[in-house]
Amino acid sequence: MQHGRITLTRYTIEAEHKHSGASGEFSGLLNSLATAIKIISNQVNKGALIGALGNAGTDAASVNVQGEVQKKLDVMSNEVMLQENEWTGHLSGMASEEMEDVYTLPAQCKRGKYLLVFDPLDGSSNIDVNLTVGTIFSILRAPNPGKDASLEDFLQPGTEQVCAGLALYGPSTMLVLTTGNGVDGFTLDRDIGAFILTHPQMRIPDDAHEFAINSSNARFWEPPVQRYVDECLAGKTGPRHKDFNMRWVASLVAETFRILTRGGIFMYPRDSKDATKPGRLRLMYEANPISFLVEQAGGVSTTGRERVMEIAPTSLHQRVPLIFGSKNEVECVAEYHAEYASGKEPDTYSSPLFGTRSLFRSQ
Ligand code: MN
Ligand code: MN
Repeated sequence: MQHGRITLTRYTIEAEHKHSGASGEFSGLLNSLATAIKIISNQVNKGALIGALGNAGTDAASVNVQGEVQKKLDVMSNEVMLQENEWTGHLSGMASEEMEDVYTLPAQCKRGKYLLVFDPLDGSSNIDVNLTVGTIFSILRAPNPGKDASLEDFLQPGTEQVCAGLALYGPSTMLVLTTGNGVDGFTLDRDIGAFILTHPQMRIPDDAHEFAINSSNARFWEPPVQRYVDECLAGKTGPRHKDFNMRWVASLVAETFRILTRGGIFMYPRDSKDATKPGRLRLMYEANPISFLVEQAGGVSTTGRERVMEIAPTSLHQRVPLIFGSKNEVECVAEYHAEYASGKEPDTYSSPLFGTRSLFRSQ
Protein backbone atom coordinates (compact mmCIF):
# COMPACT_ATOMS: atom_id res chain seq x y z
CA MET A 1 0.00 0.00 0.00
CA GLN A 2 1.23 3.48 -0.90
CA HIS A 3 1.59 6.00 1.89
CA GLY A 4 1.71 9.72 1.22
CA ARG A 5 2.13 11.62 -1.96
CA ILE A 6 4.42 10.32 -4.67
CA THR A 7 7.01 12.84 -5.69
CA LEU A 8 8.99 12.41 -8.89
CA THR A 9 12.05 11.61 -6.78
CA ARG A 10 10.24 8.83 -4.94
CA TYR A 11 8.74 7.55 -8.19
CA THR A 12 12.11 7.20 -9.91
CA ILE A 13 13.87 5.67 -6.90
CA GLU A 14 11.05 3.17 -6.30
CA ALA A 15 11.12 2.30 -10.01
CA GLU A 16 14.84 1.55 -9.69
CA HIS A 17 14.24 -0.66 -6.65
CA LYS A 18 12.11 -2.86 -8.90
CA HIS A 19 15.07 -3.38 -11.26
CA SER A 20 17.88 -5.24 -9.57
CA GLY A 21 21.24 -3.88 -10.62
CA ALA A 22 19.88 -0.40 -11.34
CA SER A 23 22.67 2.07 -10.71
CA GLY A 24 20.67 5.12 -9.73
CA GLU A 25 21.96 6.96 -12.77
CA PHE A 26 18.57 7.14 -14.34
CA SER A 27 16.85 8.71 -11.34
CA GLY A 28 19.76 11.15 -11.16
CA LEU A 29 19.25 12.10 -14.77
CA LEU A 30 15.50 12.59 -14.35
CA ASN A 31 16.15 14.69 -11.27
CA SER A 32 18.40 17.11 -13.14
CA LEU A 33 15.90 17.24 -16.00
CA ALA A 34 13.15 18.08 -13.52
CA THR A 35 15.27 20.91 -12.13
CA ALA A 36 15.78 22.33 -15.62
CA ILE A 37 12.04 22.14 -16.22
CA LYS A 38 11.30 23.99 -12.95
CA ILE A 39 13.71 26.77 -13.93
CA ILE A 40 12.21 27.10 -17.42
CA SER A 41 8.72 27.03 -15.93
CA ASN A 42 9.68 29.89 -13.64
CA GLN A 43 11.06 31.97 -16.53
CA VAL A 44 8.01 31.32 -18.72
CA ASN A 45 5.74 32.16 -15.80
CA LYS A 46 7.51 35.46 -15.04
CA GLY A 47 7.38 36.41 -18.73
CA ALA A 48 7.37 40.17 -19.25
CA LEU A 49 8.35 40.77 -15.61
CA ILE A 50 11.87 39.57 -16.38
CA GLY A 51 11.93 40.85 -19.95
CA ALA A 52 11.66 37.31 -21.31
CA LEU A 53 9.13 37.93 -24.11
CA GLY A 54 9.84 38.78 -27.73
CA ASN A 55 12.45 37.77 -30.27
CA ALA A 56 16.02 36.97 -29.35
CA GLY A 57 17.28 39.62 -31.79
CA THR A 58 16.19 41.67 -34.74
CA ASP A 59 18.63 40.42 -37.35
CA ALA A 60 19.56 37.18 -39.09
CA ALA A 61 21.46 36.11 -35.97
CA SER A 62 18.15 35.36 -34.26
CA VAL A 63 17.10 32.76 -36.83
CA ASN A 64 17.86 29.18 -35.73
CA VAL A 65 19.01 26.22 -37.83
CA GLN A 66 15.41 25.53 -38.80
CA GLY A 67 15.08 28.96 -40.37
CA GLU A 68 12.68 29.92 -37.58
CA VAL A 69 12.81 33.12 -35.58
CA GLN A 70 14.25 32.45 -32.15
CA LYS A 71 12.44 33.85 -29.16
CA LYS A 72 14.37 35.06 -26.13
CA LEU A 73 12.83 32.20 -24.18
CA ASP A 74 14.00 29.66 -26.80
CA VAL A 75 17.56 30.74 -26.15
CA MET A 76 17.14 30.94 -22.36
CA SER A 77 15.48 27.52 -22.17
CA ASN A 78 18.20 25.94 -24.29
CA GLU A 79 20.87 27.34 -21.96
CA VAL A 80 19.04 26.01 -18.91
CA MET A 81 18.75 22.52 -20.39
CA LEU A 82 22.47 22.45 -21.19
CA GLN A 83 23.64 23.86 -17.86
CA GLU A 84 21.42 21.71 -15.66
CA ASN A 85 22.21 18.45 -17.43
CA GLU A 86 25.83 18.63 -18.58
CA TRP A 87 27.48 18.19 -15.16
CA THR A 88 25.60 15.09 -13.96
CA GLY A 89 27.97 12.47 -15.36
CA HIS A 90 25.01 10.57 -16.81
CA LEU A 91 25.22 11.92 -20.38
CA SER A 92 27.77 11.58 -23.12
CA GLY A 93 26.19 14.23 -25.32
CA MET A 94 23.15 16.40 -25.98
CA ALA A 95 21.36 17.68 -29.06
CA SER A 96 18.74 20.40 -29.34
CA GLU A 97 16.40 22.06 -31.79
CA GLU A 98 18.29 25.28 -31.15
CA MET A 99 21.76 23.95 -32.02
CA GLU A 100 22.84 22.83 -35.46
CA ASP A 101 25.37 20.28 -34.23
CA VAL A 102 25.66 17.83 -31.37
CA TYR A 103 26.63 19.55 -28.12
CA THR A 104 29.93 18.39 -26.64
CA LEU A 105 30.06 18.49 -22.85
CA PRO A 106 32.64 20.78 -21.22
CA ALA A 107 36.00 19.06 -20.72
CA GLN A 108 35.68 18.85 -16.92
CA CYS A 109 32.33 17.01 -17.02
CA LYS A 110 32.24 13.24 -16.65
CA ARG A 111 30.81 11.35 -19.66
CA GLY A 112 28.00 8.85 -19.03
CA LYS A 113 25.70 6.22 -20.52
CA TYR A 114 22.90 8.26 -22.04
CA LEU A 115 22.13 10.78 -24.77
CA LEU A 116 19.63 13.60 -24.31
CA VAL A 117 17.79 15.17 -27.25
CA PHE A 118 15.34 18.01 -26.69
CA ASP A 119 13.15 20.79 -27.95
CA PRO A 120 13.80 23.27 -25.11
CA LEU A 121 10.67 25.31 -25.78
CA ASP A 122 7.97 23.88 -28.01
CA GLY A 123 5.21 26.15 -29.29
CA SER A 124 7.31 29.23 -28.63
CA SER A 125 5.39 31.24 -31.23
CA ASN A 126 2.67 31.20 -28.54
CA ILE A 127 4.86 32.79 -25.89
CA ASP A 128 3.92 36.41 -26.50
CA VAL A 129 0.20 35.59 -26.45
CA ASN A 130 0.42 33.69 -23.14
CA LEU A 131 -0.65 30.29 -24.41
CA THR A 132 0.69 26.93 -23.30
CA VAL A 133 4.23 26.00 -24.32
CA GLY A 134 6.47 23.15 -23.21
CA THR A 135 9.71 21.20 -23.33
CA ILE A 136 10.02 17.86 -25.16
CA PHE A 137 12.82 15.38 -24.46
CA SER A 138 14.04 11.96 -25.53
CA ILE A 139 16.67 9.81 -23.83
CA LEU A 140 18.70 7.23 -25.77
CA ARG A 141 21.48 4.87 -24.74
CA ALA A 142 24.94 6.10 -25.70
CA PRO A 143 26.50 3.55 -28.07
CA ASN A 144 29.92 4.55 -26.69
CA PRO A 145 29.32 5.21 -22.99
CA GLY A 146 31.94 7.35 -21.29
CA LYS A 147 33.07 8.88 -24.59
CA ASP A 148 31.96 12.02 -26.40
CA ALA A 149 28.90 11.26 -28.51
CA SER A 150 29.10 11.65 -32.29
CA LEU A 151 26.25 12.61 -34.60
CA GLU A 152 25.91 8.96 -35.68
CA ASP A 153 25.41 7.94 -32.05
CA PHE A 154 22.24 10.02 -31.95
CA LEU A 155 20.69 8.66 -35.17
CA GLN A 156 18.72 5.84 -33.56
CA PRO A 157 15.09 5.02 -34.37
CA GLY A 158 12.45 5.99 -31.81
CA THR A 159 12.01 2.37 -30.78
CA GLU A 160 15.41 2.67 -29.04
CA GLN A 161 14.29 5.42 -26.67
CA VAL A 162 14.63 4.48 -22.99
CA CYS A 163 12.62 7.45 -21.78
CA ALA A 164 10.63 10.29 -23.31
CA GLY A 165 8.55 13.05 -21.91
CA LEU A 166 7.23 16.52 -22.10
CA ALA A 167 6.81 19.41 -19.74
CA LEU A 168 3.80 21.64 -20.10
CA TYR A 169 3.89 25.28 -19.01
CA GLY A 170 0.17 25.93 -18.86
CA PRO A 171 -2.22 26.90 -16.07
CA SER A 172 -0.35 24.17 -14.16
CA THR A 173 3.19 23.10 -14.90
CA MET A 174 3.18 19.38 -15.63
CA LEU A 175 5.65 16.67 -16.50
CA VAL A 176 4.44 13.71 -18.53
CA LEU A 177 6.80 10.80 -18.75
CA THR A 178 7.29 7.29 -20.03
CA THR A 179 10.08 4.79 -19.50
CA GLY A 180 8.24 2.09 -21.41
CA ASN A 181 5.80 1.15 -18.65
CA GLY A 182 2.86 3.35 -19.50
CA VAL A 183 2.60 7.11 -19.14
CA ASP A 184 2.55 8.97 -15.85
CA GLY A 185 1.76 12.65 -15.33
CA PHE A 186 3.08 14.87 -12.54
CA THR A 187 1.98 18.34 -11.48
CA LEU A 188 4.45 20.86 -10.08
CA ASP A 189 3.55 21.93 -6.55
CA ARG A 190 5.31 25.29 -6.42
CA ASP A 191 4.93 25.59 -2.64
CA ILE A 192 7.21 22.62 -2.05
CA GLY A 193 9.07 22.74 -5.36
CA ALA A 194 8.31 19.13 -6.27
CA PHE A 195 6.51 17.26 -9.03
CA ILE A 196 3.68 15.16 -7.59
CA LEU A 197 2.18 12.14 -9.38
CA THR A 198 -1.34 13.31 -10.23
CA HIS A 199 -2.11 11.47 -13.49
CA PRO A 200 -0.94 7.85 -13.11
CA GLN A 201 -1.15 5.57 -16.15
CA MET A 202 -2.75 7.94 -18.64
CA ARG A 203 -4.73 6.21 -21.42
CA ILE A 204 -5.89 7.56 -24.76
CA PRO A 205 -9.42 6.32 -25.55
CA ASP A 206 -9.60 4.22 -28.73
CA ASP A 207 -12.41 6.32 -30.19
CA ALA A 208 -12.65 10.07 -30.51
CA HIS A 209 -14.57 12.82 -32.25
CA GLU A 210 -12.07 15.64 -32.03
CA PHE A 211 -9.47 16.40 -34.71
CA ALA A 212 -6.63 18.92 -34.87
CA ILE A 213 -5.06 20.10 -38.11
CA ASN A 214 -3.88 23.41 -39.56
CA SER A 215 -6.56 23.72 -42.21
CA SER A 216 -4.97 26.80 -43.78
CA ASN A 217 -2.79 24.18 -45.53
CA ALA A 218 -5.82 22.27 -46.89
CA ARG A 219 -4.99 22.98 -50.53
CA PHE A 220 -1.56 21.35 -50.06
CA TRP A 221 -2.81 18.16 -48.40
CA GLU A 222 -2.63 14.78 -50.05
CA PRO A 223 -5.94 13.13 -51.05
CA PRO A 224 -6.11 10.68 -48.08
CA VAL A 225 -5.93 13.57 -45.60
CA GLN A 226 -8.43 15.63 -47.58
CA ARG A 227 -10.73 12.62 -47.58
CA TYR A 228 -10.43 12.07 -43.82
CA VAL A 229 -11.04 15.73 -42.94
CA ASP A 230 -13.93 16.06 -45.41
CA GLU A 231 -15.54 13.05 -43.74
CA CYS A 232 -15.04 14.60 -40.30
CA LEU A 233 -16.67 17.81 -41.53
CA ALA A 234 -19.58 15.87 -43.06
CA GLY A 235 -20.38 14.66 -39.54
CA LYS A 236 -23.48 12.56 -38.85
CA THR A 237 -24.70 12.81 -42.44
CA GLY A 238 -21.36 11.62 -43.88
CA PRO A 239 -19.71 8.20 -44.13
CA ARG A 240 -18.40 8.39 -40.52
CA HIS A 241 -21.92 8.82 -39.07
CA LYS A 242 -20.74 11.04 -36.20
CA ASP A 243 -20.13 14.73 -35.58
CA PHE A 244 -16.59 15.95 -34.89
CA ASN A 245 -15.14 18.98 -33.14
CA MET A 246 -12.02 20.74 -34.34
CA ARG A 247 -9.18 22.03 -32.14
CA TRP A 248 -5.96 23.77 -33.17
CA VAL A 249 -3.70 25.31 -30.52
CA ALA A 250 -0.57 25.38 -32.72
CA SER A 251 1.36 24.06 -29.73
CA LEU A 252 2.36 20.42 -30.12
CA VAL A 253 2.76 19.86 -26.38
CA ALA A 254 -0.69 21.28 -25.66
CA GLU A 255 -2.31 19.20 -28.41
CA THR A 256 -0.51 16.09 -27.14
CA PHE A 257 -1.62 16.61 -23.56
CA ARG A 258 -5.24 17.14 -24.62
CA ILE A 259 -5.14 13.89 -26.61
CA LEU A 260 -3.48 12.03 -23.71
CA THR A 261 -6.27 13.30 -21.46
CA ARG A 262 -9.43 12.85 -23.52
CA GLY A 263 -8.45 11.39 -26.90
CA GLY A 264 -8.58 12.81 -30.41
CA ILE A 265 -6.32 12.94 -33.44
CA PHE A 266 -3.53 15.36 -34.36
CA MET A 267 -2.27 15.69 -37.92
CA TYR A 268 0.64 17.55 -39.41
CA PRO A 269 0.67 15.44 -42.58
CA ARG A 270 2.97 15.44 -45.55
CA ASP A 271 1.90 18.18 -47.93
CA SER A 272 3.02 19.81 -51.17
CA LYS A 273 3.62 23.28 -49.69
CA ASP A 274 7.40 23.00 -49.67
CA ALA A 275 9.02 20.17 -51.61
CA THR A 276 12.13 20.33 -49.42
CA LYS A 277 10.09 19.56 -46.27
CA PRO A 278 8.34 16.18 -46.28
CA GLY A 279 6.69 17.18 -43.01
CA ARG A 280 6.74 19.95 -40.48
CA LEU A 281 7.76 18.37 -37.21
CA ARG A 282 11.20 17.14 -36.28
CA LEU A 283 11.73 13.41 -35.83
CA MET A 284 14.38 13.29 -33.11
CA TYR A 285 13.01 15.74 -30.54
CA GLU A 286 9.32 16.11 -31.43
CA ALA A 287 7.84 13.17 -33.34
CA ASN A 288 9.76 10.35 -31.61
CA PRO A 289 9.26 11.35 -27.97
CA ILE A 290 5.60 12.23 -28.63
CA SER A 291 5.11 8.90 -30.42
CA PHE A 292 6.64 6.98 -27.49
CA LEU A 293 4.24 8.70 -25.08
CA VAL A 294 1.26 8.15 -27.38
CA GLU A 295 1.97 4.45 -27.97
CA GLN A 296 2.59 3.88 -24.27
CA ALA A 297 -0.82 5.43 -23.57
CA GLY A 298 -2.53 3.03 -26.01
CA GLY A 299 -2.61 5.39 -29.00
CA VAL A 300 -1.07 5.13 -32.46
CA SER A 301 1.48 7.35 -34.21
CA THR A 302 2.23 7.21 -37.93
CA THR A 303 3.42 9.30 -40.86
CA GLY A 304 0.36 7.96 -42.69
CA ARG A 305 2.63 5.43 -44.37
CA GLU A 306 4.76 4.00 -41.56
CA ARG A 307 5.13 3.86 -37.80
CA VAL A 308 7.04 7.00 -36.77
CA MET A 309 9.26 5.21 -34.25
CA GLU A 310 10.57 2.79 -36.90
CA ILE A 311 12.02 5.51 -39.12
CA ALA A 312 15.83 5.28 -39.32
CA PRO A 313 16.98 8.88 -38.83
CA THR A 314 19.41 10.33 -41.37
CA SER A 315 19.97 13.73 -39.73
CA LEU A 316 19.47 15.47 -36.40
CA HIS A 317 16.89 17.97 -37.61
CA GLN A 318 15.02 15.70 -40.03
CA ARG A 319 11.34 16.52 -40.51
CA VAL A 320 8.56 13.94 -40.78
CA PRO A 321 4.79 13.90 -41.23
CA LEU A 322 3.09 13.20 -37.89
CA ILE A 323 -0.38 11.80 -37.30
CA PHE A 324 -1.17 10.51 -33.82
CA GLY A 325 -3.86 9.95 -31.24
CA SER A 326 -6.83 7.68 -30.67
CA LYS A 327 -6.24 4.26 -32.20
CA ASN A 328 -9.34 3.93 -34.35
CA GLU A 329 -9.07 7.41 -35.87
CA VAL A 330 -5.35 7.17 -36.65
CA GLU A 331 -5.82 3.72 -38.16
CA CYS A 332 -8.59 5.15 -40.34
CA VAL A 333 -6.21 7.81 -41.73
CA ALA A 334 -3.49 5.20 -42.27
CA GLU A 335 -6.01 3.01 -44.09
CA TYR A 336 -6.93 5.94 -46.39
CA HIS A 337 -3.23 6.37 -47.19
CA ALA A 338 -2.99 2.66 -48.03
CA GLU A 339 -6.11 2.81 -50.22
CA TYR A 340 -4.68 5.84 -52.01
CA ALA A 341 -1.37 4.08 -52.63
CA SER A 342 -3.16 1.07 -54.11
CA GLY A 343 -5.64 3.14 -56.13
CA LYS A 344 -8.69 1.93 -54.20
CA GLU A 345 -9.85 5.27 -52.80
CA PRO A 346 -13.12 6.90 -53.89
CA ASP A 347 -12.74 8.75 -57.23
CA THR A 348 -13.23 12.18 -55.65
CA TYR A 349 -9.87 11.76 -53.91
CA SER A 350 -7.78 10.40 -56.78
CA SER A 351 -6.42 13.85 -57.59
CA PRO A 352 -4.07 14.13 -60.58
CA LEU A 353 -2.19 16.79 -58.63
CA PHE A 354 -0.47 14.20 -56.51
CA GLY A 355 2.32 12.00 -57.80
CA THR A 356 2.47 9.82 -60.85
CA ARG A 357 0.09 7.12 -59.76
CA SER A 358 -2.93 8.72 -61.45
CA LEU A 359 -1.01 8.68 -64.72
CA PHE A 360 -0.74 4.93 -64.45
CA ARG A 361 -4.44 4.62 -63.72
CA SER A 362 -5.49 6.43 -66.86
CA GLN A 363 -3.72 3.93 -69.08
MN1 MN B 1 8.77 22.43 -31.27
MN1 MN C 1 11.21 24.84 -29.85
